[in-house]
Formats: sequence, C-alpha cells, structure tokens
Amino acid sequence: MAVYDRALARMLPAVPKPIVRRIADRYIAGTELADACRLVKRLNGAGKMATIDVLGEAITSPDEARAIARAYDDVFDAIERERLDSNVSVKPTALGLELDYALFRENIEAVVRHAAESGNFVRIDMEDSSTTEATLRLYRELRERGLDNVGIVLQARLRRTRADTRGLAPLRPSVRLCKGIYLEPPEIAFQDREAIRASFMRALAALLDAGCYVGIATHDDVLIDDARRQVAERELGREEYEFQMLLGVRPGLGDALVRDGHRLRIYVPFGRQWYAYSLRRLQENPSIAGYIAADTVGRVLGRGNHRA
Ligand SMILES: Cc1cc2nc3c(=O)[nH]c(=O)nc-3n(C[C@H](O)[C@H](O)[C@H](O)COP(=O)(O)OP(=O)(O)OC[C@H]3O[C@@H](n4cnc5c(N)ncnc54)[C@H](O)[C@@H]3O)c2cc1C
Repeated sequence: MAVYDRALARMLPAVPKPIVRRIADRYIAGTELADACRLVKRLNGAGKMATIDVLGEAITSPDEARAIARAYDDVFDAIERERLDSNVSVKPTALGLELDYALFRENIEAVVRHAAESGNFVRIDMEDSSTTEATLRLYRELRERGLDNVGIVLQARLRRTRADTRGLAPLRPSVRLCKGIYLEPPEIAFQDREAIRASFMRALAALLDAGCYVGIATHDDVLIDDARRQVAERELGREEYEFQMLLGVRPGLGDALVRDGHRLRIYVPFGRQWYAYSLRRLQENPSIAGYIAADTVGRVLGRGNHRA
C-alpha cells in the first residue's frame, strides 16, 4: 500500500458515514435480505457459490444478539425458497460472545440446528485474538454434541495457528483459511507479509494432509498459485476444497478460477450494521485514494458508484 493510501486508510473513521457507505458499496449486498438474495442469484448464475453474513457486530444487548440469530432463520428460509447455492457465515460477537458465553452458545447452536434441518452449513467467522479461544472452544462443544454442519476459520497471521491446526486435526474440521484482518501485536502474530504468506502455505499443507476440507480464502496471487499447486499435487477433486473471496474484491480473479474449473464461494454481507465491516474492507483496499477520488469525480459528474 502506498504511503498516501495508508494515511488515508487511517483517517477513514473521521470520514462522514454517507461517504463511507458510498465508497464501500461494492463490498456489501445491501441493507436487506432481498438485496443479498438477488446478488447471490446473480453469483450462482455465474457459477459461484455464496456465504451470506448478517452484519451485526455492534450489538450491545442480549436481545440484539438474539435478533441476529433469528435473522438467520429468515436467511435459511430464503435460501431454501429461492434455491440459492449458499451457506451462512456468523460473527461470534454479533451472536453475543462479548456479552455472555452461554448466550453465544445458545445462539450459535440455534443457528446450526436450523441449518441442519435444511441440510445447510454454518461457518463461524474468526474475529480478533481476544475471541479466538472462546470461538474454538465453542466449535469443539458443537462437534461434541454431534453437530457436524459447522466450520471454523483459522488466521495465518496468528502464531498459534500452527498449534491449532495440529490440535484440531483429529476432528477433521472444515476450515476457512485466511490471513486474518485484525492487526495483532508481534508477540502473537506475524507482522511481515512474507511470514504471513509462509504461515498460510504451511497451514494449508497441514490441513490438506490431515484430510480437512479447506476454504482457501485469499485474493493474493502468490497464495492462490501455491494453493493451486498444492491441490494439484494431492490430486484433489473439485469437491474436496474451495476458493473463497469477498464480495467486491478482485472479481476478475474469481472469474478466472471458475473458468479453470475450481469452486469459488463469495462472502456476501448484508444488513443495516454495515459500518464496521465497510471500514475494514476500505482499510485493506490498496488504492483507497483512487476510490475516494473516483467517488468525488463521479458525484461531480452526477454518476453513482457501480458495483463491479
Ligand atoms: C471469504 C473470506 C472470508 C474471510 N473471513 C475472515 C475471518 O473470518 N476473519 C478474518 O480475520 N479475516 C477474514 N477474511 C479476511 C482476510 O483475513 C484478509 O484480511 C483479506 O482477505 C485480505 O487478505 P488477502 O489474502 O486477500 O491478501 P492481501 O495481500 O490483503 O490482498 C491481495 C490483493 O487483493 C486485493 N484486495 C485485498 N483486499 C482488498 C479490498 N478490501 N479492496 C480492494 N482490493 C483488495 C488487492 O489487490 C491486494 O493486493 C476473509 C477473507 C475472505 C476472502
């Protein structure tokens, strides 16, 4: 990221929300479930699967956490009714992790059980390192209760991921492997780009060797090339792994993977609590200055920002 872009990314929290909303438009399906369904239909038509996320990480009360869990009931109903090729992703904090572990467990278990009724699957997103232990503990508890339609996320950025990979291997978990968006201190996380890449490649190898289903979640050409090599070397069939990308990020690269016969799942967030998610995406955009400039020019010319 250029120095100018980095400085702008740091200033984003000071940017008025309506402007953030407009320039983050491409990363979010919309505020309503119907927006997400329309988008997923389009993605499915283009040969891509989806995972729908109800945005809600800013919740502050048990009732709000329960409301997010109930919102997933509507998502499963819509997936079934509209025959969408989509599972769901849930954020632990949106379901109450920071309020009360028992509430969090109750909410996730309800979502996972509802998913099981319709043969669907729940991916538990991984948030910052203060949540890792509790999130993995809950995953183990769900599996102990016989719930298998649930998966976790491991972050290559975290040093502990090597040990977590080993520790979880006997469960043959379904894992989404990503770099990790949350910046963490050097004592617990790799800081250097190449070290994070090396950790990602190592974790992918260990997970595939343990027979895990892996969602390879990255837009990094180096990691995608390595993953393609790793699955080819192990002669995996196309049903035995998948690539995953975020809505609005490098769609052309996703198209190329689909053209080459790989399965690809797009992360599709929707909801009224779009702000925190949007900030994180914009802060990762290597050309944020260009986005803001394009938005400004677009408004001067009277054009909207169109999703790629
Ligand atoms: C499906 C999916 C689910 C995820 N779930 C989690 C999770 O549960 N927990 C978690 O901590 N992280 C999650 N992440 C985020 C992930 O950890 C990274 O922060 C993010 O994917 C960027 O890392 P990268 O591997 O794409 O590499 P990068 O080096 O960051 O990006 C590679 C290239 O992709 C492009 N790019 C990346 N981000 C953007 C952007 N926002 N806008 C425009 N271009 C961009 C750029 O061209 C960049 O050079 C998820 C990512 C994906 C794809």
